[in-house]
Amino acid sequence: MRQLPYLDAHGDDGYSVLRYDLHLDYRPGANRLGGRAVITAVARSALNSVSLDFGPLRVDRILFDGKVVRYAHRLGKLRVRPGRVLAVGEEFTVEVRYAGVPRPNRGHWGEIGWTQLTDGALVASQPTGASSWFPCNDRPSDKAAYRISVTTAPSYTVIASGTLVSHTGTTWVYEQPEPTSPYLVSVQIGRYVSAELAKAPVRQPAAVPARLLRAFRHDFANQPRMLKEFSRLFGPYPFTEYGVVVVDEELDVPVEAQAMSIFGSNHVDGRRGSERLVAHELAHQWFGNSVTASDWRHIWLHEGFATYAEWLWAEADGRSCHALALRSHAKLAQLPQDLTLSAPGVRRIFDDRVYERGALTLHALRTAMGDAAFFRLLREWTTAHRHSTATTPDFISLAEAHSAVDVRPLLGAWLDEAPLPPL
Ligand SMILES: [Zn+2]
Repeated sequence: MRQLPYLDAHGDDGYSVLRYDLHLDYRPGANRLGGRAVITAVARSALNSVSLDFGPLRVDRILFDGKVVRYAHRLGKLRVRPGRVLAVGEEFTVEVRYAGVPRPNRGHWGEIGWTQLTDGALVASQPTGASSWFPCNDRPSDKAAYRISVTTAPSYTVIASGTLVSHTGTTWVYEQPEPTSPYLVSVQIGRYVSAELAKAPVRQPAAVPARLLRAFRHDFANQPRMLKEFSRLFGPYPFTEYGVVVVDEELDVPVEAQAMSIFGSNHVDGRRGSERLVAHELAHQWFGNSVTASDWRHIWLHEGFATYAEWLWAEADGRSCHALALRSHAKLAQLPQDLTLSAPGVRRIFDDRVYERGALTLHALRTAMGDAAFFRLLREWTTAHRHSTATTPDFISLAEAHSAVDVRPLLGAWLDEAPLPPL
């Protein structure tokens, strides 16, 4: 039986986007966003309409292959009618002009997407917030290249996914050539000063409120060492740079974006109180951003791995990974055991137990396989699925192929059954 993907109302597998070219104009005080999105895509089945996810912003005009066409926009879907049937393999462009007051989408996970700050804006879209600010094929598996141009008020800095290719006057242009899922595309606008944590093996730029710069430099000083250590354990860092933005407001949790992470002012305390999270967000560049779950059902492939990376960083820093695993296991043993890691249920994809049990699954696997085989497996995982997508069965098959012992029963108990296995 074919399982329906989680959040299957989002995205359309009738076509794949190759490239998004986004031209945005944002006024921070008024919270007004104007946009022109040029989407280049290819039909995967015969189509008489192209369906995009797009939130409450007002659509002004749509061009299909350069010609004005009819469309319908309701309930978060923008249906574009080219007036003919598109053949399988046919490439096309859709240009959408839009404007309005952006606001985040509401879901089981609170407000996600474009969010106005007291002085600026942030984007944190996981899992389905991308449509709050640009029309997209909002499936994690529909990866594309991006070019993002943002014009805003003077004295604001814009950071967007990708590498800054030009900054003239108040317009900032970023290019993200690596395949990127819509939910990982980010724009950050605020009054920031720039810092650089390292130049190699990749540039590690940062944008931080001036008042936090000193504490930031202390708190994030280990990040370059962390990136080297993770590159050794997980394989080469998958992007050409790694940016960090600290917004001038508190955030419940930091968020990962493509080649970038976003932290709140509360994550900078001058005492490295959130270093665990610095490791977690960095690890998402391999697990989540480069190797992306093809469906949210497999979210442990992001969060379990990023949580395990916290423990691996602790280990590299001279602490005991095993002691952290035992503590986590004791904590989980006190909680209800009604969650299956391989299918947690769509409302529980960000449940703490997915994170902790996911990390414990990897620790149990490492204990069974031995360090050498386990880390070979992780490096092969990030290589085989680099800039692509993967599923839990993909991981199980690869683990079996790399292990001298039969790990299928162990992984079955951790992934497919609700009771917590012993460690
Ligand atoms: Zn995470």
